[in-house]
Amino acid sequence: MKKALTGLQVSVCIALLLVACSDPVETFDTRIRNAYVIDGLGNPARAADVYIRDGFIAQLTDVDAKSASVTNTIDAQGRIVAPGFIDVHSHGDPLETPGFENFLAQGVTTITLGQDGSSPEVENLGAWLDEVREEGIGVNLAMFVGHGTLRKLTGIEHNPDPSSDQLQRMLEMLDNALDYCFGLSTGLEYNPGLHASQDELLALSKVVGKRSRLIMSHMRNEDDDQLETSIDELLNQGEYARIHIAHLKSVYGKGRARAEELLRKLDRARQGGIAITADVYPYVASYTGLSLLFPLWAKTAEDFAVAKRDRRAELEAYLVKRITRRNGPAATLLGTDPYTGKTLADLEVELGLPFEKILIDVIGPQGASGAYFIMDDALQSRLLEDSNITVSSDGSPTGFHPRGHGTFAKIIEEYVVTRNTLLLEEAVRKMTSFAASVLGLTDRGSIEPGKAADLVIFDPQQVRARATYPAPIQLADGFDVVLVNGEIAFESGKFDAVRSGLVLRPSSQPQQAGE
Ligand SMILES: [Zn+2]
Repeated sequence: MKKALTGLQVSVCIALLLVACSDPVETFDTRIRNAYVIDGLGNPARAADVYIRDGFIAQLTDVDAKSASVTNTIDAQGRIVAPGFIDVHSHGDPLETPGFENFLAQGVTTITLGQDGSSPEVENLGAWLDEVREEGIGVNLAMFVGHGTLRKLTGIEHNPDPSSDQLQRMLEMLDNALDYCFGLSTGLEYNPGLHASQDELLALSKVVGKRSRLIMSHMRNEDDDQLETSIDELLNQGEYARIHIAHLKSVYGKGRARAEELLRKLDRARQGGIAITADVYPYVASYTGLSLLFPLWAKTAEDFAVAKRDRRAELEAYLVKRITRRNGPAATLLGTDPYTGKTLADLEVELGLPFEKILIDVIGPQGASGAYFIMDDALQSRLLEDSNITVSSDGSPTGFHPRGHGTFAKIIEEYVVTRNTLLLEEAVRKMTSFAASVLGLTDRGSIEPGKAADLVIFDPQQVRARATYPAPIQLADGFDVVLVNGEIAFESGKFDAVRSGLVLRPSSQPQQAGE
């Protein structure tokens, strides 16, 4: 037998029904209002509001189209909102300079470390990354394991012909490191990587390929007449793994036509099924240790001592020829004390010695780093325009080269605004979704619901790379707000003390090759 409902029971039921049917007000952590969203995928900018929840992009709507409960509203006032930039080749020590303010101020939200064959010399890179995680980091970090470092850790070091046991040990260490790393970096122009044979590199690339990771290579020789040979060496590894040319440059090559020749070579390789990509930094000077100038037989301290004693005349002649070919002593600008800010030509005057004697008797191959003005703007700029080329800084918070503080600002300021050779949407695509695909990052690099909320707000007209060769440690201007994983990391020139960067984990899924 049924009992009639009392009046009170009826009204309770109606109230419950109303609660169940009406849309509850959605809640978000942050709303970026009135933005011009450049999504990073190459699509044209569009006016929108961006909603963020729990560090991820939750929704995009038309401007003011939604009523929601929001903790923090940022008014973009019609400025561009783009994905944070991804630097595919960077340097630095997160335990020394964990804030990475030089990168945040250029709109960079993800960096890569362990480059050029050199990662921290520890048996367990996973434990080292835990330490970085604990310390906190201002930007996201995608780690690489260095081939030169693996050679050191396995005792192979400078040996051109490792035993099969040593090689096996190196392959195992690589495989273990790839649990935490996005790939293997090689520095074949540096010690000890330069001692590696083709067989060794192919064995390593098979491991990298099996784990669907990337080989990021500072190639064996970047001189213009050696570039094809260097690329071919890397292409052989591309039979087994995705490959990437770090800071593609032609040392003393010239002209757009030469750039197009190189780009055609890369295109042909891609058509043949090799997943090859490259990055370029927007400067015509490189920067590295002076040992780069010395011959193979005089690069290390030990070899140099012997060469200095037994092959002095030959060494002098080699250096004269090499420096002359690299645009002369005025084109080498030293970046380490006590020579900081002086060229080799300046030192010739100051010390009253020819540069080859300065290099041998005063500085030595390990004695300094320098910027080398050895690239051609027309050639490098043409490379940069190619759709399969991304951008790197190859810089660090402390390096004495403007690229560490200026690269990403310079792309916007110079290539997009002043020269007008890159569309803003295309420049952003190269530095975000394309860079993400190179690294195999699937959860960031574009503004889409579900992606990590790494974002940068800016007016392209206001962007300035202030870093110069004489004064390279100067933050970029114009990137007004930078969010890392949904948290404001940088706003109006101020950095947030809470470091919201993550040590990123490579995906365990097989990844798409870089396009
Ligand atoms: Zn390099």
